[in-house]
Amino acid sequence: MDWLLTNARIPDQPEPVDIAIADGRIAQIAPALSLSADKQWELAGRVVLPGLVEPHVHLDKTYLNSSGDFPNRSGTLLEAIDVWLAVKKQRSTSEVKSAVRRALRAAIAHGVTAMRSHVDTEEASDLETLAAILEVREEFRHAIALQIVALAFAGTSPIIDRTMADALAMGADLVGGAPALVPDPAASLHAVFALAERTGKPIDLHIDETENPASQTLLTLAEMTIAAGMQRQVTAGHCCSLAFMDEANAGRVIERVAAAGISIVTLPSCNLVLMGRGMRPAPRGVTRVKELLAAGVNVCAGSDNVQDPFNPFGSYDPLQSAQLAAHTAHMTGADELAACREMVTGRAAAALGLKSYGLRVGAPADLVVLDALDPQEAVTASPPRLATFKNGRLIVRIQTEQLWN
Ligand SMILES: [Zn+2]
Repeated sequence: MDWLLTNARIPDQPEPVDIAIADGRIAQIAPALSLSADKQWELAGRVVLPGLVEPHVHLDKTYLNSSGDFPNRSGTLLEAIDVWLAVKKQRSTSEVKSAVRRALRAAIAHGVTAMRSHVDTEEASDLETLAAILEVREEFRHAIALQIVALAFAGTSPIIDRTMADALAMGADLVGGAPALVPDPAASLHAVFALAERTGKPIDLHIDETENPASQTLLTLAEMTIAAGMQRQVTAGHCCSLAFMDEANAGRVIERVAAAGISIVTLPSCNLVLMGRGMRPAPRGVTRVKELLAAGVNVCAGSDNVQDPFNPFGSYDPLQSAQLAAHTAHMTGADELAACREMVTGRAAAALGLKSYGLRVGAPADLVVLDALDPQEAVTASPPRLATFKNGRLIVRIQTEQLWN
C-alpha cells in the first residue's frame, strides 16, 4: 500500500473508516484495516470527500481586478463587458499564464481535482490565450483534470465559426456559447450542434442568463438535444429565466430538460451579483434548483467568474459555491445540504463525464481532507482543507495553526 488514511469520516457512513491507496486507486475502505503502508496518516475523525469538481469557471478572465488598472466602477454586466473587451487585447500570454497558475493552485488547495473552464474563442488573438492555457494545463496535468470549453457566438460570423473549430482542433474539449445573447438563439444553437456533430465533442452553454421569462432557450436546447440524440452530453449554465416563469411554463421546460438528460450548473455567486440589480424586491436570480432536482435533473454548482470585471468575489472554492447554492435555493434540510455537497462532487463529476469517480474501491484516489468532523460541515461551514490527493499522489498538504494566548 502507498497510503493508509486512518479514522476518516466519509458521507453516509456512521463509523470512521480507514482508506487504503495503492497504484493511484482506492484499494480498500473499511473500519480498522490491519494493513501496512509506506505512508500513514491518522485523521482522528476528520472528513474525507472525493476530490471536489469545479464545473464552470473562466480562467481567461480571472484575477483581472488584481492590477486595479481596469476597474468595473458600476459593477454591472454592461460595464464588465466593456472593461473585458478593452483589457483582453492588452493581456500578454505570460500574464494569462500567471493568472491561470494562481487559479489552479487556489483550486487544488481547496481540494479540486477536476475543473471545466470556458475560454473565449471569437478571434485569432483568443487562440493565443487558449494556447497559453493549454500549456498550463500540461504543467498541472498530474494535479488536476482540466476541460476547456470553446466559448463564442457560433453561427453569427464565419470568423467565429472558424475560430471555434480551430480551438477544438487545438485541444478545447467542448463546444460552448451563449445563444440567448444573440438575435437568433435557435440559429446559434443549430450552429453549436452542427459543430458538435462534426467534431464529436459534447456541449456546454451559457443559457438564459436573464430575468426575462420569455427567454426559453433552455426549452429549445432540450428539444435539439433529444433530436440530435445527445442525451447526457449537454450542460447548461445559469438558466436564470426559468426562475422568473410561471409554474406551468417552468414545469413544462423542466420536464423536457429531464427527458434530454441535460446537466444544469447553478452559479449563485455571479447570479447574486448580476441578476435583478434594478428589480425591487431584488430576486436571488438563481435557477429552480429544487424543482430540477425533484424532476431527476443532474444539477451541480460552480463559481463562474472569479475576481474579474464580471464578479469581484470568489476563491476557486467549490464548497463556497455549495454553501451559496444552499443559501440561495433554500436547500437547508439535512438531505438538501447533502444534495448541495453532491453538487460539487458526484453531480459535478457526472456533468463533466468523469469515469470512475467517488469514494469507492477501484476509483482513482482523488481525495480532499477537511478540517471538519461531520460531512454536513462541508456545506455549512466551508471548513479549512488539510490535503488534496490526485491519483493517489499527495499534491498539497496544508497546515493550519492557531496561536492562543
Ligand atoms: Zn460563465
